[in-house]
Amino acid sequence: ASARIGVTGLAVMGRNLARNFARNGFTVALHNRTEARTRELVDAFGHEGDFVPTGSARECVAALRRPRCLVVMVKAGEPTDDVLQEFAALLEPGDILVDGGNAHFEDTRRREAALREHGIHFVGTGISGGEEGALLGPSIMPGGSDASYEALGPLLERIAARAPDGAPCTAHMGPDGAGHFVKMVHNGIEYADMQLIAEAYDLLRKVAGLAPAEIAEVFRRWNQGRLDSYLIEITAQVLTHTDAETGRPFVDVVADRAEQKGTGRWTVQTALDLGVPVPGIAEAVFARSVSGHADLRAASRHLAGPGARALGGDAAAAFTDRVEQALYASKIVSYTQGFHEIAAGSGKYGWNIDLGRVAAIWRGGCIIRAAFLDRITRAYAAQPGLPSLLTDKGFATEIAAAQDDWRAVVATAATQGVPAPGFASALAYYDSLRAERLPAALTQGQRDYFGAHTYRRTDRDGVFHTLWAGDRTEAEG
Ligand code: NDP
Repeated sequence: ASARIGVTGLAVMGRNLARNFARNGFTVALHNRTEARTRELVDAFGHEGDFVPTGSARECVAALRRPRCLVVMVKAGEPTDDVLQEFAALLEPGDILVDGGNAHFEDTRRREAALREHGIHFVGTGISGGEEGALLGPSIMPGGSDASYEALGPLLERIAARAPDGAPCTAHMGPDGAGHFVKMVHNGIEYADMQLIAEAYDLLRKVAGLAPAEIAEVFRRWNQGRLDSYLIEITAQVLTHTDAETGRPFVDVVADRAEQKGTGRWTVQTALDLGVPVPGIAEAVFARSVSGHADLRAASRHLAGPGARALGGDAAAAFTDRVEQALYASKIVSYTQGFHEIAAGSGKYGWNIDLGRVAAIWRGGCIIRAAFLDRITRAYAAQPGLPSLLTDKGFATEIAAAQDDWRAVVATAATQGVPAPGFASALAYYDSLRAERLPAALTQGQRDYFGAHTYRRTDRDGVFHTLWAGDRTEAEG
């Protein structure tokens, strides 16, 4: 047995992860259900490092040094369960099985509990960065036992992306499902980030009257400042691109229907179960859904409303600056919501997730990598029990400075009939948290009226009910 680590499932992700391990000096045992893939990998990339190709699960396990570490990179869902079962039967107590697929954290919790019975450490890990990240350095979010991280951590730290300060973009997130939970919320935040950028683009196009290539320039400029991030950078690239066939801007020939694979939806579903408000992420998921309803959109096209009038000139330039403020403020709000969800999940499942560290390992390799994440790490370092990122002094000050422009952008979007659900919802969330009184008092009154659901009072403890159908006196329950 000579391999330090094994990888089973050698489609794009598994193949690239295996190569990444090998390029970093680890001997890697290879296995795939269809053996041809294993041979292809060795033929094409065998020169990159030490690979041990194997033809069966048994052979693969025999090739691994103890404690054995095996990464499973197969299709999420049932295939993952099948493969885990097959390998678990061949492993021994103390061995480590890693699922790097996009599993739901509840599945990871279930699998971890089942494998723990056999003394096998199960590590559900989020891996972000797609194909390229897997090869060149992803952001890795492992869950599982402390002991599993002791053995596996040093390998992951070698293959992970590096943050600008050189730190590896991986850390132990917490027990069982913690890693996949963090990865899920990462994707939810990614949805929100993308939606906000899309709204900024739409407003620059329709209200400021800029062409895609001009908007690309704006994004390039923004990428030099506090919005510096991978998504802003690639937005400029996409907007610069011209369709070879028609000579038109690429963004004008792509069908305007956004698809999704489900992790954004999981983030929202889980938030609903946890009772955590994540309206920004929900708006992003729903915006994709609205875009996909072609029939509904076609049937609604004649509905009344203003068409946007392009500003042009100095007014366009001033509006562009306002949109930057709105985008930044809304971005702070979506991260606030995402981190609230991680904190709530961590509390419910006893994961003890270090929120500042989550932000730190997202600085490289993953889709939402951004200069901004350093600020989040600092905010949690300064105040570990921070109830909400919005209450961090630095963020609060920036939002205070941005809010006039943010409000103006949301108002303009509304009066000009340009949908901006992300910007508007972020502002409503901010104003809701700021409000001295919310109309929830009236909601409670209605609930008490029709369903005797009772209410609390502002001036004394206890639970009350008004006899609405009778003499409207108040009873204490
Ligand atoms: P796929 O999700 O397309 O899965 C293909 C791999 O799964 C092949 O190796 C295939 O083997 C194997 N497989 C499928 N069914 C079975 C089965 N019943 N038994 C054994 N093996 C099976 O591959 P990807 O590389 O795209 O993704 C791997 C995992 O990584 C997935 O869970 C995915 O969600 C996750 N992921 C993907 C990312 C991406 O950008 N693609 C990013 C991050 C995570 P065979 O060759 O024999 O068909």
